[in-house]
Amino acid sequence: MRHQNLLFLGMILGAAVGLIGPSDAVVWWCDLFGTTIFIGALKMIVAPLILFSILAGITSLSSQKELWAIGWRAMLLYLIATAVAVMIGLIFVLAIAPGHRGARDEIRASWSERRAEIARREGVREAKVEAAGRLTPKDAIKENLRQIITNPFDALASANSLGIIFFAALFGVALMVIGEKARPAVAAIEGCNAAMLQVTRWIMWGSPFFIFCLIASLVATHGPAVFHTLLWYVITVLLGIACHVGFLLTLVRVVGRMSPLSFLKGIRRAWAVAFATRSSAATLPVTIECVERELKVPRKIVDFVAPIGATIGMTGTALYEGVAVIFLIQLFGGLPGAEIHLGAVTTVIVFLTAVLAAVGAAAVPDAGLVTMVLVANAVGLDVQYIALIFAVDAFLDMFRTSTNVMDDAVVSVAVARLTGAR
Ligand code: ASP
Repeated sequence: MRHQNLLFLGMILGAAVGLIGPSDAVVWWCDLFGTTIFIGALKMIVAPLILFSILAGITSLSSQKELWAIGWRAMLLYLIATAVAVMIGLIFVLAIAPGHRGARDEIRASWSERRAEIARREGVREAKVEAAGRLTPKDAIKENLRQIITNPFDALASANSLGIIFFAALFGVALMVIGEKARPAVAAIEGCNAAMLQVTRWIMWGSPFFIFCLIASLVATHGPAVFHTLLWYVITVLLGIACHVGFLLTLVRVVGRMSPLSFLKGIRRAWAVAFATRSSAATLPVTIECVERELKVPRKIVDFVAPIGATIGMTGTALYEGVAVIFLIQLFGGLPGAEIHLGAVTTVIVFLTAVLAAVGAAAVPDAGLVTMVLVANAVGLDVQYIALIFAVDAFLDMFRTSTNVMDDAVVSVAVARLTGAR
């Protein structure tokens, strides 16, 4: 059986085992192999990979003009895709109005009691969200700049992608400008980059088993019961994501001139890893491999465009942020801390801040939930209400992360076509 098929078999078996309700010992082992070993190994290589891949990408370009040609097209495409994602999410959440359906009255009435219970269960995540609750949009801009302009060794040690990207871009352009003198350094970077990809291949060799473990432990700890009250919300997010994937595939067809089917086949491994790990940063090595090997996008483009996309191009997260906050306003609007009128102004604020929040979200599990605080603060929604959606967040994170990874591949394919490299 081919490796890709084994991967999907691992997912299905993992879900089946998780639904059966494995014992605590089995969940412990699954968590050890899936989270500690597999996600740990991917995280181990991601910081050096971003550094070498951006450096190798930039230094393989023939001129600064070519870098600029690739750079502005990639940024524009990421921005358009993010804005379209939020728009699709807003259309779905306003049309379906999940916050007005289901057990709305019961949730509103029993909110304080439920909140205490959720808070106990989700203590750590709640602490994170509450800490981020003090963030204003101004603080967020300052915080992002602080992450970008920082000691590169510190950025590497703490896997701060923005800091690594900024330093790598600066260093890469410097190597380009120096020219002849930089040759030995460029050759060393190429060697290191190739070695990082080899390590990725080794890690991916065991991925069907690791993915089985990840899905089994996730399904076992977030059983189907949690979907009861939030069913309409989950349906809205999934419909929005499905529609947005349709938009991304249209971009592949129209701008990238590639058949959507070949595209999906080419990235299925990255998609599956993103789905199971819920981290686009951890998936980055696999994304680069798939886009280069299967979709035949030249390295000079993938090496540069994909790491940037994994850090700032998060269309799945953008869509989700908008849907979640509007849903919470629909559900809790009028209660203390949620005295908000859901009109045009609120919707526009949600649109703008959701784009910003998605750009600022780290490419790790649950990050979207934390930056959502920015959107909630902007419209005056008490961040305590976000606790309601904790229960289904891990499940939805699988879908938004795989969409985040998909848009990195879409933009790489499109930029390769637009610059005549494919
Ligand atoms: N888990 C997502 C990612 O890594 C970010 C999010 O939580 O939305 O892309």
